Amino acid sequence: MELIKAQKGTQDILPGQSENWQVVEDVMRSEAAMHGFQEIRTPVFEDTRLFQRSVGETTDVVQKEMYTFQDKGGRSITLRPEGTAGVVRALLEHALYNNGLPVKLHYFTTCYRYENTQAGRLREFHQFGVEMFGSNSPSADAEVIGLAKGVFDRLGIKNLRLEINSIGCPTCRAEFHKALKAYFAQYKDQLCETCQGRLERNPMRILDCKSPICSEIAEGAPKILDYLCDDCKAHFESVQRYLTAVGTEFTVNPTIVRGLDYYTNTVFEFISGDLGAQSTLCGGGRYNGLVEEMGGQPLAGLGFAWGSNV
Ligand SMILES: [Zn+2]
Ligand SMILES: [Zn+2]
Repeated sequence: MELIKAQKGTQDILPGQSENWQVVEDVMRSEAAMHGFQEIRTPVFEDTRLFQRSVGETTDVVQKEMYTFQDKGGRSITLRPEGTAGVVRALLEHALYNNGLPVKLHYFTTCYRYENTQAGRLREFHQFGVEMFGSNSPSADAEVIGLAKGVFDRLGIKNLRLEINSIGCPTCRAEFHKALKAYFAQYKDQLCETCQGRLERNPMRILDCKSPICSEIAEGAPKILDYLCDDCKAHFESVQRYLTAVGTEFTVNPTIVRGLDYYTNTVFEFISGDLGAQSTLCGGGRYNGLVEEMGGQPLAGLGFAWGSNV
């Protein structure tokens, strides 16, 4: 009889390997606990609308990559493509913010995206993530970045750089979008097919397109940092001062935009020089509008995800 094999884009973690995973997870768990981040576990599947609303209708994740199906009760169900949405849903459903702010949570999850496996991407992938709610202080940004750095340091991961950027708030971003659209419209015919679609809906995503032609065009594009409003500028400068104060080295990279719609202000990535093109090990940022967008009170939020496909 024919043997049934594991699905494309999935992997078994075998004895001999799982011990390494445990070592890494223990460091993550202890670093999270040290910073006061408690563990939360949320379901693998959720109402499809949760991700449409949080991740954003125009993102590649929602448009092309979600594992969505109808269950026997006729509900539209989606396997979580990322960790934040479920945590925000649980935060609101259980009113976790009533126990005092900030709420600090960490989690280990598997996530699911219909990815191109030829590029080495997994369809089931593992993430370690943290989320903090209820602090808009730039010191919170530095704390979350510091937590990630603490894990890298304890694991002895070298050849690593931290890149940060600010993508502003909805107010300053609206101006930036306009400028980007006008800029990229001049090169419309040269952009890849995906980016031609992004031009109207989500021009910021063109900035992190991997196609050589798009990235060459993107080099001359307007920079978000020139469009930040006074509040966003002050916040970003303060984050940088905090990082410098604790001796965390970083570079400002205005092309980091992150793939999901919910980010605001600070975004960051830890990038390894060892892994070639797929080199982002940990990425995250602030998402001050997300909790309100999901039906809650306005509540600042930020976090990161660590693993493949971040
Ligand atoms: Zn702003
Ligand atoms: Zn492109």
